[in-house]
Amino acid sequence: MQYVTILGATGSVGVSTLDVLARHPEQYSVYALSAHSKVAELAAQCQQFRPQRAVVGSAEAALELTRLLREQGLATEVDYGVDALCAIASAPQVGAVMAAIVGAAGLAPTLAAARAGKKVLLANKEALVMSGQLFMDAVHDNGAVLLPIDSEHNAIFQCLPHSYGRSPAASGVAKILLTASGGPFLTRAVESLDAVTPEQACKHPTWSMGRKISVDSATMMNKGLEVIEAHWLFGASAEQIEVVIHPQSVIHSMVSYVDGSVLAQLGNPDMRTPIAHALAYPQRIVSGVPQLDLAQIATLQFERPDFHRFPCLALAFDALRAGGTAPALLNAANEVAVQAFLDLQIGFRQIDRVIAHVIETVPHGAASSIEAVIEQDRVARMAAHAYIGDRLAA
Ligand code: NDP
Ligand code: MG
Repeated sequence: MQYVTILGATGSVGVSTLDVLARHPEQYSVYALSAHSKVAELAAQCQQFRPQRAVVGSAEAALELTRLLREQGLATEVDYGVDALCAIASAPQVGAVMAAIVGAAGLAPTLAAARAGKKVLLANKEALVMSGQLFMDAVHDNGAVLLPIDSEHNAIFQCLPHSYGRSPAASGVAKILLTASGGPFLTRAVESLDAVTPEQACKHPTWSMGRKISVDSATMMNKGLEVIEAHWLFGASAEQIEVVIHPQSVIHSMVSYVDGSVLAQLGNPDMRTPIAHALAYPQRIVSGVPQLDLAQIATLQFERPDFHRFPCLALAFDALRAGGTAPALLNAANEVAVQAFLDLQIGFRQIDRVIAHVIETVPHGAASSIEAVIEQDRVARMAAHAYIGDRLAA
């Protein structure tokens, strides 16, 4: 029996993870679940999965959750805050940790899982983008196993040799071809993007996801973060990673080898496939995802990304090339800008301007420690808020 902690259980990836686990009760048991503020949803999940522990974001939420659980006759231990998240990510009983909190808030508990040598199922790409080498060192030094949940990286992982040692050249890899749907605004007139609403931005053509990553997909910052994620996971340089627009989201990514072979992983766009793959790796288990019907799909299309339409993608490549704490700045500024867009404070086309401003004005340096990265995250957020505040006042 493998005990699993899900960080961010009430989110899109968290719910898909529970769906897969529910299909295999003889193999997996839920040790702990976390949510931020969706207490009623978390209580319902506790009722179904009977975890030993549950963690929420505040003392009030913990009180409310405790009340709901006791009403249901459950003895689940309830706690709140970052230290409690780190505790459920590193508890000795836990075998695998699904890191599915959104944004920088997931860094500390995801890192705690790596430091405790767990099998880390990484959905929370922002944690890796921020901490890069420091995170990879924590995985390596503590014997943790890092398995990508992001569908593209899970696909690349599946297309690489089992013995892959984070060196493209040593395995004959010429390029990583990272596919992108292009999001809801792939063909809309660029000038008209000023007027798009959060609802339009969150309406993804092929995937159903949380609001933050949905906006990131619309700006293609999601692909930018994924380029940086691929750099760390697979040891590929910016030049060895190529973004390919593929609107059907059937090919989840590809690896191009020096002999001219290109290996691809295909499947319906449903996160339960990469989740099941990583949970059971190297075995295969049923995920609930229907088999792919290629004749019904009939057509697969590809095109190059337009960096003018998607300036966030260019900003991410620049941050990767700059290195050090630049990706942490990029990520923090993006989180603030996306939230401001969702809160109707700025327009869609101002998101990239906030990020560019922060990267231009906040000095960045070496990512020498996690503390240094967290400090850069804090300074970048302040700069982004100040810039947005100035725009609002003007
Ligand atoms: P959601 O917004 O759907 O869920 C986020 C989860 O994190 C929720 O459980 C939420 O709790 C919790 N949470 C939010 N803020 C905090 C906080 N400050 N502290 C602790 N917990 C918090 O996100 P997704 O599931 O869409 O995405 C999760 C991660 O997975 C992201 O990093 C995303 O980039 C990545 N990912 C997602 C994919 C998808 O298909 N959705 C695909 C590939 C990667 P509550 O519900 O209470 O607010
Ligand atoms: Mg992805």
